[in-house]
Amino acid sequence: MIVLDGKIASQSIKENLKTDVSAIIKHGKRPPHLAAILVGNNGASETYVASKVKNCEEIGFQSTLIRLEDTVEESKLLETIQQLNNNKAVDGILVQLPLPKHISEQKVIETINPQKDVDGFHPVNIGKLVQGLETFIPATPYGIMLMLEYFNIETKGKHAVVIGRSNIVGRPMSILLSSNIKRGNCTVTICHSHTPNLSEICLQADIIVAALGKPEFVKANMVKQGAVVIDVGITRVADTTAKKGFRIKGDVAYNEVATKTTAITPVPGGVGLMTIAGLLKNTLQAYMNNE
Ligand code: NAD
Repeated sequence: MIVLDGKIASQSIKENLKTDVSAIIKHGKRPPHLAAILVGNNGASETYVASKVKNCEEIGFQSTLIRLEDTVEESKLLETIQQLNNNKAVDGILVQLPLPKHISEQKVIETINPQKDVDGFHPVNIGKLVQGLETFIPATPYGIMLMLEYFNIETKGKHAVVIGRSNIVGRPMSILLSSNIKRGNCTVTICHSHTPNLSEICLQADIIVAALGKPEFVKANMVKQGAVVIDVGITRVADTTAKKGFRIKGDVAYNEVATKTTAITPVPGGVGLMTIAGLLKNTLQAYMNNE
């Protein structure tokens, strides 16, 4: 069994990006620039955005963090996005989700210029993904594809079961795995909250991608011997014995499932780090397109 270590894979990708940025700077050009908008002060969102900004700095990207109160009017947020759309020195824009209830996430996503949409959530970019055109692949599925590539996981002809159908993880993941691309060409079953017999379906999977947000949902008795298991879940579970008062749990019961797999991602230290690698690669791509 191999542990699909996101730290190792993302570090390698970041080293390559760092080299690319150095070459850009050497040519007297400005570095790629990512602008992130954080609304409110949700603990998990703060952590994610801080990590994205830190990673930008590490590889030599410029980054700007715009913080808005959680009471900010939707129109003000949309105006801020428009300003970034019009700013030629900004290559990539991300708005950290989730947003407060009074703001329409869909409106926000659709306001970002598709050419700066490095999260890959804009309908134009999702449409391109579906048609197999070049686009910004949503960062988490992109990160998973990069991980499969890094660890040379064979996907062609395999049966992949994706649990979860969200627009940001499950659905794009199912599209990528079924596409005629490297690390694609799977037969894909996409499962969701209305899927009966989920255990039986999972037992037929060569590859399971768990993205439902239910801690330790996937148990050993749902996994075929020799399967590859990708755990996307990140849930903060209260734990008074932990320093921060919570522990991060994935969607897979790692200890019992790992023994049945040929490869598995840990949580933390797996897909989360690859998501950032995907985002950084998208930002470099946006910069190349922009320049
Ligand atoms: P979501 O809540 O938008 O979607 C969850 C999906 O799971 C839904 O499609 C729902 O139908 C399905 N689902 C819920 N209960 C189910 C059940 N019992 N059986 C089968 N399907 C069920 O969540 P999301 O935004 O896709 O995120 C999923 C998880 O991944 C969360 O834990 C989230 O924190 C995590 N996440 C991690 C990263 C990362 O970088 N590692 C990125 C994004 C999301």
